[in-house]
Amino acid sequence: MIKLKTLFKNANIVTPNILKHGNVIVENEFITDIVDNNILLDADEVIDCQGNYLCPGFVDIHNHGTVMGSFYTSNADEMEKASIFMAKHGTTAVLPTSLSSSYEDIMSFLKTIVNLKGKNKGSKILGAHIESNYFNPKFVGAQNPEFIYSPKEKEYMSFYDTGVVKRVDASPEIDGVLDMARNLSKRGVTMSIAHSGADYQDVLRAIDAGFTHITHIFNAISFLSNCYFYPKIGASEAALLQDEITVEAICDGKHIPPELIRLMHKVKGPEKIHAITDAIMAGAPGGHNKLWGCDILVEDGVGMLPDKSAFYGSVTTNDVELRVLVNKANLSLCEAVKMLTLTPAKVIGEKNIGAIAPGYYADINILDKDLNVIYTMINGKKFEI
Ligand SMILES: [Zn+2]
Repeated sequence: MIKLKTLFKNANIVTPNILKHGNVIVENEFITDIVDNNILLDADEVIDCQGNYLCPGFVDIHNHGTVMGSFYTSNADEMEKASIFMAKHGTTAVLPTSLSSSYEDIMSFLKTIVNLKGKNKGSKILGAHIESNYFNPKFVGAQNPEFIYSPKEKEYMSFYDTGVVKRVDASPEIDGVLDMARNLSKRGVTMSIAHSGADYQDVLRAIDAGFTHITHIFNAISFLSNCYFYPKIGASEAALLQDEITVEAICDGKHIPPELIRLMHKVKGPEKIHAITDAIMAGAPGGHNKLWGCDILVEDGVGMLPDKSAFYGSVTTNDVELRVLVNKANLSLCEAVKMLTLTPAKVIGEKNIGAIAPGYYADINILDKDLNVIYTMINGKKFEI
C-alpha cells in the first residue's frame, strides 16, 4: 500500500498532556511522529496551521442525537446524518446511546450499529451505549417510566451478544443489577451508575460488583441530602470520593455550574473526569421542537419540558463544551481538551484514540484562538461535507 504523508506544520499542539509548538506527521490513518518546527520534511500534503491549536478530535461517549438525526434509531441513514452533524463540531468518535424503551427497539438500534460501524461518514461509531431500563423509578429523569424494571439475564445477554455493547448504565440498588454488573464487567463492558438513589454503601457494593463509572453526575442521581440535622452523601459525592470511579458531566454550562466542574476536576484529577454532551438534539434551535413525539422547549442553550419544570437533555456539542470548560470553569486548555478526548476514550477501553501521539489514529482538530473548530481530520482524511 502506498503511504500518503500529511504534514501539519507550525501548530500549537495540545497532545493533550502538554502544549508544545511543532509539526505533526500523519501517514495513512495514523499519527507517526511529532517533530520540531525547524526540521524539514517531505510530504504529499502540507497544512500550515499558522500557529493555531492542533488537538485530538473530540470523543463523545454519551449522545442520543442531533438536530440532523437521532443516534437512537434503527435507521442507518439517520444515524449517519447524526454522525456527520457531530463531526462538523469536531467530534471524531461517538458512542450512540439508547433510552429506556422496548426490547425490540433496543435490539434494532444495536443491529443498526453492527451494520454501520466502520462504514459511515462523519464521527466514527465506537459501539453502543445502553442507557438501560434497569433504573430506580424515582430517578428516571427524562427516561420513559413504562420501560423501567429489574434486569433479566436473557435480555441483557442478548444485547451483549450483538458484539457492539461497550457500556451499560444501571442503578446498583435495584434487584439483579449487581449480578448483571459482575456478568458484564468481566466481559469488558464499562458499567456506569445512573438514574440512581444509591447511598455510600450502595456505591461501595457497586464497585465490588464491577461498576467503574458514574453517568451525568449530579443530574438525575442522588447527591447530598440534608435529612433534618444529619447530612448524608449520595451517589454523586461517593463517586467523587472513591478512586475506582470515573466521572462524566454534562459541561454545557447549564446542567452543572462551571464552579462545580472545576471543583470536581480538582478532586478527581484530569484522568478521571470527562465531558459528555448527553445530547438529545444537539444543535436544536431555540423555541419548540418535536422529538420522539414529545415537545421540547429550547431556551438559553438547553432543552426543557414545555412547562420549564425540568431539563430534557442537552442540545450542546463538544466544541461548545470546550469553551465552557476554558472560559467559564477556568480550566487550562490541556485539561479541557483531555476531558473531551483521552479520558472518555479510556473510560470505554479505547486504546489508540484521543491523543496526538505516534500510533494513535489521525483524528485531529485545528482550533482558532477563540477555540472554534476550523479543520477536522478523521482516520487520516480531511472531514468535509
Ligand atoms: Zn443520556
